[in-house]
Amino acid sequence: MDRRDFLKTSLHLSALAMIQLSGIGCSHQPESAGSPSDLPALPYAKDALEPFISSRTLEFHYGKHHQGYAANTVKLIAGTNLAKLPLKEIIQKSHGIKELVSTYNNAAQLFNHNFYWECMKPSGGGKPQGKILQAIEQSFGSFDAFVKAFSESATAQFGSGWTWLVKDGNQLKVINTGNADTPIAMGTVPLLTIDVWEHAYYLDYQNRRADYIRAFMDHLVNWEFAAKNMDQNA
Ligand code: MN
Repeated sequence: MDRRDFLKTSLHLSALAMIQLSGIGCSHQPESAGSPSDLPALPYAKDALEPFISSRTLEFHYGKHHQGYAANTVKLIAGTNLAKLPLKEIIQKSHGIKELVSTYNNAAQLFNHNFYWECMKPSGGGKPQGKILQAIEQSFGSFDAFVKAFSESATAQFGSGWTWLVKDGNQLKVINTGNADTPIAMGTVPLLTIDVWEHAYYLDYQNRRADYIRAFMDHLVNWEFAAKNMDQNA
């Protein structure tokens, strides 16, 4: 199958089975702000991040883990008053509600992964330019100090979770969230994230999470995406 074939993004459960059988298309689609049934296609080919993240990792991480969160979310909200809401509202309305813990976890993981794929691109990484660089320097002292803070935070996350660059008022901050937790539920604006669940790196790096984080910072970060997130929430 031509990898540029357009992936149908409607995610009825029958379509999910089809997607998994037919391989994953990779046409670019913008991050979905819509319902959980709008699973965005990967914004690049499955092998586009090699050698830093392998196509085998993306096959499992996007094709199994991410799609699993999407399918579960669709199932869990079916027939409830959350069914018609945009994904971000589903996350905010289910956050902290004991009966909706599975809904929250799956919806938050769906959002986090939609966001994470956009945080990377082939030949990315290194130092950004313009307003986001100025904001980073203002908040962290220097770009190098930000890289150190982000990398150390991602390395130190105990167990599964995410490390984020967020905008909190006028400050940029590095935070960790455990398991599925997401800044969307906490009132801060995510600009950039790295997935530090083992499924994100184990096939390529085994236990060497620090090497995965270094590859992300040096070769993969999509700073244009982070800058766009900052501009949209100025
Ligand atoms: Mn993941």
